[in-house]
Amino acid sequence: MQVIMIKYGELTTKKGNRKFFVNTLYDNIKDKLKGKDVKVHKDISRMYIEFEDKELNGILEIINNIFGIHEYVVADRVYSEIEDIDNKVIEVAKNSNKKTFKIETKRSDKSFPINSVEFSSRLGGVVLKNVPGIKVDVNNPELTIHVEIREGYTYIYTNEYQGLGGYPSGTLGKGLLMLSGGIDSPVAGYLTLKRGVALDCIYFESMPHTSIEARNKVIDLARKISKYTHKINLHIVPFTALQEAIYHYVREDYCITIMRRMMYRISEEVAKRNNCKVITNGESIGQVASQTLTSMSVINNVTNMPIIRPVACLDKLEIIDIAKKIDTYDISILPFEDCCTIFVPKHPVINPKLEQCLIEENKFDYETLLNDCIENINTIEITEKKENDYEDLL
Ligand code: ATP
Ligand code: MG
Repeated sequence: MQVIMIKYGELTTKKGNRKFFVNTLYDNIKDKLKGKDVKVHKDISRMYIEFEDKELNGILEIINNIFGIHEYVVADRVYSEIEDIDNKVIEVAKNSNKKTFKIETKRSDKSFPINSVEFSSRLGGVVLKNVPGIKVDVNNPELTIHVEIREGYTYIYTNEYQGLGGYPSGTLGKGLLMLSGGIDSPVAGYLTLKRGVALDCIYFESMPHTSIEARNKVIDLARKISKYTHKINLHIVPFTALQEAIYHYVREDYCITIMRRMMYRISEEVAKRNNCKVITNGESIGQVASQTLTSMSVINNVTNMPIIRPVACLDKLEIIDIAKKIDTYDISILPFEDCCTIFVPKHPVINPKLEQCLIEENKFDYETLLNDCIENINTIEITEKKENDYEDLL
């Protein structure tokens, strides 16, 4: 029978944590394959999925989107008995219709009576004898038949596939993603998830200046990235009153800087309340006035929480490439206004001064407004499949 065999790769370097990483990957795989007719087993270095033939493509599509899988193969599984192995290898060589081949044996079951090198050359002889017209070529074969002898079963395969890599979702704790409707922040979320960090998301909205379509866009983006993790809690912050106050009291060129300082303050509090250890966002060095190094430092000054900026050093085109790959790009370019694009000052300050920020913030009672924002947050749970109807939030 055929099975999918998963190799853990980078996980194996995590000595003390290995069991935890493997168990989490196992749970994640089982969770993502829920509803499919499969059996999942694990041992210390491999995971195996038994499946119904007709489901293979659907399962591979899911496997390809699970972090923590570095390599996998679709293997024929036989008992670790010489005759069974011989027969299967002959069959594989015959069916391949290839002209040249080599055998690569790996023997993790040391009780198996023949060592790997001897077994490969023995099997080579068996193939030559039983498959007419095929030749051995150890340097550049058309076909490499891998034979992995493990306790109980042996796995025979010809192709290895790259998985998504990274760490299993949730093995490195949780972060808070500042998710706008733009191109950069969903990509930042995806890259954060890749390192095993689960996510909550925070979205600042300024109804009625921003629309319900803008919010739905953010919900759709959160749903897209939830494919790479479990459910995502999206915290929607009613930002209108605070943003209006900023534009009323603060001198025009500092409005964006102050607005972003407020976003960071609120994000820090929401992160703490939801057990998120870091904030992550889509800032990219130099992209806009608020993302010069001086701006970033003045904005960052309001919090001690680590800020992860996965796309900080990527060019826009590199970010767009990832956005297309994870299927967020087409949603991101829908033309609905975000709270950052309404009331944009003509000349936002490029090198803001911290002292000036403090002067501007002293002009109004922002703390009350901040607290109102936090206390009136609306949190919704987003899952990969569209189960919920969010109309009731209106
Ligand atoms: P993006 O394309 O991700 O929206 P951007 O190029 O529009 O980014 P900015 O608008 O300056 O850049 O925002 C920088 C980052 O700040 C965003 O990537 C996002 O992480 C966060 N951010 C901006 N606006 C919001 C918002 N309304 N809600 C939540 N986070 C936001
Ligand atoms: Mg934006």
